[in-house]
Amino acid sequence: MEYRINENLCQAKLSIIRRITDLALADLGPKERAVLFSSGQPADEAIPTELVRKYTDRLLDAYGSEMLQYGGHKGYPPLFPEIRKFLNKDGVVARAEDDFVITYGSSEAIFAMGSAFIRPGDRVIVENPTYLNATNSFRYCGARLVPVQTDSDGVNLEALEEAMKKGASFFYTIPNFGNPSSITMSLRKRKAVYGLAVKYGIPILEDNPYGYLRFSGNEYIPPIKSFDEEGIVFYMGTFSKIVAPGMRCGFLCANREVIPKFVVFKGVSSSGNINWSQYVVTEFLREVDIDAHIARISGIYEKKARTMYDRMKECFDPAVEFTMPQGGMFIWAKLPEGAEATEFCLEAAQKLRIAVVPGNDFFIGSPRSCGYFRLNFSKPTQDDIAYGIEKLGSLTRKYCRG
Ligand code: PMP
Repeated sequence: MEYRINENLCQAKLSIIRRITDLALADLGPKERAVLFSSGQPADEAIPTELVRKYTDRLLDAYGSEMLQYGGHKGYPPLFPEIRKFLNKDGVVARAEDDFVITYGSSEAIFAMGSAFIRPGDRVIVENPTYLNATNSFRYCGARLVPVQTDSDGVNLEALEEAMKKGASFFYTIPNFGNPSSITMSLRKRKAVYGLAVKYGIPILEDNPYGYLRFSGNEYIPPIKSFDEEGIVFYMGTFSKIVAPGMRCGFLCANREVIPKFVVFKGVSSSGNINWSQYVVTEFLREVDIDAHIARISGIYEKKARTMYDRMKECFDPAVEFTMPQGGMFIWAKLPEGAEATEFCLEAAQKLRIAVVPGNDFFIGSPRSCGYFRLNFSKPTQDDIAYGIEKLGSLTRKYCRG
């Protein structure tokens, strides 16, 4: 059979994260140990399993099979005011003229935006490097990606303005603890980015999965959505990182005029949302002291990030560059000029059984030569971090000394 697969899907790439993880686990012997620094999963101990069990039992008693019926295309109505309260608690994000659609995590909100705004060949401006599932999603929707370099305090404004002058369907940004770079955009830049978006009439897609996971540096920086007087910012949130990714519960917050279009999208893409997880998340937001919960999980991540960073300082060749993150889930490291992260990561996965992700695919155009690699500190245990980083350390010495 000759399958005529959509070219856009062919353009999108199989996730390097999956490939590296599979490689590290391939034919693993019973006595061999593998350590995965590859995914962006929350820590098991950060997932409120017991609460999910308690709420599920309670809600099933109260609602019975209704909880297992198809969910509405827009989402479960009692969840909306809870999300609004949650967002508005620390900086006004959702105004009266904003509304929500619930999605299967922010992944589906990203795809919904691509489906709604990208016509074949349209330009989509993205930070470089950026989240590769988002760029894959936009490619699949037919976008031509326009990469804009990032500085240590977020997107480069001159480059962004140049890109915006030529028009685009939207600008996609992760202002807090970017994936993969862990970079956070300064307040000054957020305001300037909003100003440019208004000036050139280009919507902003603001993706904020990690903003609540700040564990140091006490500056709270409000989201770009909080300046939005024009309905030009589309804000996405998710309960994947603060409750559980398996709930597949996230949302898109936008001007209420456009929400009906996304409701149609939801009907087409997935016949609505999962009632069970929306009921549980609603209960969670009503009952749990969310600040205390977030403080607890951020504490877990701070300890793990600290262990990873200290261990890297101790075991890595001094020529490898990296900084201690202030939040999020990743350390973004760089081998010295001339050393190839892809080779390094392949050798780490195959010979050491340690999975770390090479940086190439996070950059648009996937440069052949790239020294960056990404390490996740949230999912592995403290013991895995200590063991895995020590193993990687010896390999960094091989790659740094040529
Ligand atoms: N955006 C970014 C930047 C992410 O890192 C992730 C998950 N790794 C997502 C969106 C998607 O998260 P989810 O679909 O689980 O909400």
